[in-house]
Amino acid sequence: MEKIKMTTPLVEMDGDEMTRILWKIIKDELIYPFVDLKTEYYDLGLQKREETKDQITLDSAYATKKYKVAVKCATITPNKQRVEEYNLTEMWKSPNGTIRAILDGTVFRAPILIDSIKPVVKNWKKPITIARHAYGDVYKATEMRVTDLGKAELVFTDNAGNETRQTIYDFECGGVLQGQYNKDSSIISFAHSCFKYAIDTKQDLWFSTKDTISKKYDQTFKLLFEDIYNKDYKAKFEELGITYFYTLIDDAVARVIRSQGGYIWACKNYDGDVMSDMVSTAFGSLAMMTSVLVSPEGNYEYEAAHGTVTRHYYKYLKGEETSTNPMATIYAWSGALRKRGELDSNLELMKFADNLEASCIETLNAGIMTKDLVGLVEEGFEAKAVNSVEFIKAIRERLELKY
Ligand code: NAP
Ligand code: MG
Repeated sequence: MEKIKMTTPLVEMDGDEMTRILWKIIKDELIYPFVDLKTEYYDLGLQKREETKDQITLDSAYATKKYKVAVKCATITPNKQRVEEYNLTEMWKSPNGTIRAILDGTVFRAPILIDSIKPVVKNWKKPITIARHAYGDVYKATEMRVTDLGKAELVFTDNAGNETRQTIYDFECGGVLQGQYNKDSSIISFAHSCFKYAIDTKQDLWFSTKDTISKKYDQTFKLLFEDIYNKDYKAKFEELGITYFYTLIDDAVARVIRSQGGYIWACKNYDGDVMSDMVSTAFGSLAMMTSVLVSPEGNYEYEAAHGTVTRHYYKYLKGEETSTNPMATIYAWSGALRKRGELDSNLELMKFADNLEASCIETLNAGIMTKDLVGLVEEGFEAKAVNSVEFIKAIRERLELKY
């Protein structure tokens, strides 16, 4: 076959450990034979981050602003042990955090469903996509533990020096306190990303906070969303026959569990952290989740939702066979190639992304899967565990039949 041409490059962010090994096999087996791949390559592997003093991460994020589409491999976020292991001069920050801060986006996570693995929640038939606001709140909070008696106050000093004060609590014993914030600009970006993603994927959008209790903080989220919806998206939603629905977080939890799925659930930062783990676990595994960061400017960064699978990597280094699931990483590639195709009006590239995903699903439906999934398969279905390379080759066989 003649390889599919690309007109604009993708930003390619390579990563670490087992996912770095899979990254190369996926490209060699599933992309290069079919696509005349154009990428601008950034090595976000920990060694290169150390060599460049993390400049490479910043460069890759700015390249994403230029080209609009990136695909990212999982990367190590260094902790103390990694600093020793890799002989680092600094505990470099999480690349995902750095990239998010530059692109200012919302992370959308959706499960990949197959017939033989049923969600733990029996009535879930369609994917539930979690949209997590990835800025502020408890993740940027200032905390204090107090042991002396005294008064805690919230003080805001404006640039002219005027103070606004409110008593938080008069402590008659020891205790804890915390100051959280968020910014209108970030909440507005979050709202735009969610409404755009709902339109892109033609799904209903749910949004939940606790505005009955948090009458200023969460209320601000609710009102900004409402305002942006009415001004910019209502007409398009009505035209597509999709709905925007706001409800309290506790009501949302009850409705989600009773639903059939098939919508986007937008959550504040902490709710999104917790709920995405709940939803992904109930649907199967992190290796069967797609994840994309969508920025309000319309930049897209596709990645796997899991980490670098360190335990498997050490087995691999010892020459042992590994059965690491490459699905989420393959879908990061197909997602990025499809979006590149969409932005460049490259129908062949979009079709390739569909064919690649279809070949993955056909392979799984044939009962060929990695070890992590075999244990989840329902009674009545046959499943055989293969290693990562065998799994990817089985996908390639099916993909070749489509060309
Ligand atoms: P992890 O890499 O997600 O792996 C945790 C465990 O989950 C694995 O040991 C494995 O379980 C299972 N697992 C995850 N992905 C799998 C896959 N594709 N196929 C099969 N099993 C899979 O999390 P971690 O071990 O906590 O973190 C490892 C490194 O990844 C850390 O350095 C962390 O900083 C980094 N990390 C990066 C990202 C990112 O770049 N997005 C996200 C999270 C963590 P078994 O061992 O039981 O087989
Ligand atoms: Mg979490």
